[in-house]
Amino acid sequence: MLEIKNLQVKLEDEDKQILKGVDLTIGAGEVHAIMGPNGSGKSTLSYVLSGKDGYEVTGGTATLDGEDLLDMDPEERAALGLFLAFQYPVEIPGVGNMTFLRTAVNAQRKARGEEEISAAEFLKVIREKAKTLKIDAEMLKRPVNVGFSGGEKKRNEILQMAMLEPKMCILDETDSGLDVDAMKLVSDGVNALRSEGRSFLVITHYQRLLDHIKPDVVHIMANGRIIKTGGPDLALEVEQNGYADLLEEHA
Ligand code: ADP
Ligand code: MG
Ligand code: MG
Repeated sequence: MLEIKNLQVKLEDEDKQILKGVDLTIGAGEVHAIMGPNGSGKSTLSYVLSGKDGYEVTGGTATLDGEDLLDMDPEERAALGLFLAFQYPVEIPGVGNMTFLRTAVNAQRKARGEEEISAAEFLKVIREKAKTLKIDAEMLKRPVNVGFSGGEKKRNEILQMAMLEPKMCILDETDSGLDVDAMKLVSDGVNALRSEGRSFLVITHYQRLLDHIKPDVVHIMANGRIIKTGGPDLALEVEQNGYADLLEEHA
């Protein structure tokens, strides 16, 4: 599904290398987690995969289903089935949440050569999905994320994900700033979307999210590289011992 080889990335306007050779392969239906200290390059990895401006790829490759992601603009990546839930969801004043979602769904359908979703069908689907995420009708009508609480924004990100039905979902610290109840809602939303054909990369600072979203593989990232890969136990180990031992081992 997702194959990253020796990915090296620097800031576009600064001589600062952030990713120093990342290797990561995620198979169809797998859930991988990346943990790591602040500043290790986790968000940068997700930004580069989604095509955000400001970064320059200086080496390596990233493909989704064999197609070169790094060569595509963000819309093409989304049409191919890549979705990124941001650590800080953006507010879009003046654009209703429902309108935004319908436009996004139709843009994706168009890019795939499919017919537009009818208004009635769209309403039916969005109401269903919003209900499971405890997003009420009023939140659907408000401008995207404007005035939403932290938890509401994150739930709204998962709603976007549910509506777009991507095959590769990247969640960047979707749990940060969430209380236990909101985290459970978000996790339940993600778990409901798990399927054979859909893969997840869950970036998190805390092991507790991985109690809810059980990963198949856990990677530890530090200083622009993945320094260790293991099973779910690796997350527990890090939670107990911190990163210091791993960093020392790696150095
Ligand atoms: P993480 O998500 O693991 O906390 P980031 O990818 O956000 O790490 O950041 C990795 C490093 O790159 C940090 O040292 C951060 O300060 C730096 N960095 C990332 N993006 C930028 C940017 N746009 N401008 C300046 N520094 C940046
Ligand atoms: Mg950070
Ligand atoms: Mg980050």
